[in-house]
Amino acid sequence: MTMGVSDTVIRLDHLTKRFGSMTAVDGVELDFQENEFFALLGPSGCGKTTLLRMIAGFEIPDEGKVLLDGNDITQLRPNRRPVNLMFQSYALFPHMTVRKNISYGLEMDGINSVALNSRVDETLETTQLDELAGRKPDQLSGGQRQRVALARALIKRPRVLLLDEPLSALDKKLRGQMQLELKRLQHEVGITFVVVTHDQEEALVMADRIALMRDGVVEQCGKPHDLYENPGSRFVAEFIGAMNTFDGKLTDNGVEINGLGLLRGAVENNSQAGMNATLAVRPERIKITKTPPMGEDNSISGKVDDLAYHGQDLGVHVRLENGAMALVRVSAADPIAESLSDNTKIWCAWSPRHSRILTS
Ligand code: ATP
Repeated sequence: MTMGVSDTVIRLDHLTKRFGSMTAVDGVELDFQENEFFALLGPSGCGKTTLLRMIAGFEIPDEGKVLLDGNDITQLRPNRRPVNLMFQSYALFPHMTVRKNISYGLEMDGINSVALNSRVDETLETTQLDELAGRKPDQLSGGQRQRVALARALIKRPRVLLLDEPLSALDKKLRGQMQLELKRLQHEVGITFVVVTHDQEEALVMADRIALMRDGVVEQCGKPHDLYENPGSRFVAEFIGAMNTFDGKLTDNGVEINGLGLLRGAVENNSQAGMNATLAVRPERIKITKTPPMGEDNSISGKVDDLAYHGQDLGVHVRLENGAMALVRVSAADPIAESLSDNTKIWCAWSPRHSRILTS
């Protein structure tokens, strides 16, 4: 049988973990699919690591179940689960070569030497370590050491590989490279990866799906594009990417903002006019003009407060007519980018299609 992407490997059923009076993970329902790259994202202390440790078997939940292929494995010891956890500090054995570091776990399992050698060769190749097989860890770069740790986790062919902040020890540039490499590797080995990260950009780049956690609960779960374009709450809108938010009162066709008037956007049928609401718009969806725009439904005037040069684009910080600040991203290729300077009078305009109205 060929496995499609919709086959569930692990299901978390109302998983809960308390430490004293503190609920670290609170009724989490999630599923991880065959061959999926899944990211658990959220601020420090939201329960990501505790959740991962329950999947690996290092913590026993107070409530709920961990199901693997539909079977309850909640009480199973870590070494009896086809799940491997790669720790934040992936200590390699310093006196052993790369090859030995990778083969050690399988040797302990008593696998015969022919099978062992062929598995090690195969793993060295997929992780692109064949030429470094004879080196010791202190003769490797940070990124190479990271690959050895991955190879060591992958050689046991787990059904699911759990990775806790796998790239946190690397510098920014190397992180970017390793994000793509992790993704390639996951694709190549076809094992489900569940990665814990607090870095939203990293989650967006690598993951097929993301669960954003807050205070022990999953605030929203979906594809990166869904979380970015359709955040269900202000927390999600602000955690993922940059977002402009305007607080006010809901009307039938938008949000009435103090000092700015009505900003339009699609209002959900079940929302009630008059309730508190936030209108959110991404910086790249706003157009800047130096004369009042025609035919745009949302338009606010303001002055350039600050310009931040990022190479490919310009971050324009605008002081709006009510004193609030907005961020607009202008492509460096846009002719207007060169004509802006501090205090330039401008208009910010966007289509109501790009407004998100949030009531929680
Ligand atoms: P970080 O990104 O900082 O690692 P996290 O999202 O992984 O954070 P957890 O490590 O799962 O968060 O911790 C969730 C909450 O549970 C935190 O408030 C933490 O202090 C608490 N906690 C975790 N482990 C224990 C423990 N063994 N005993 C008591 N409290 C704990």
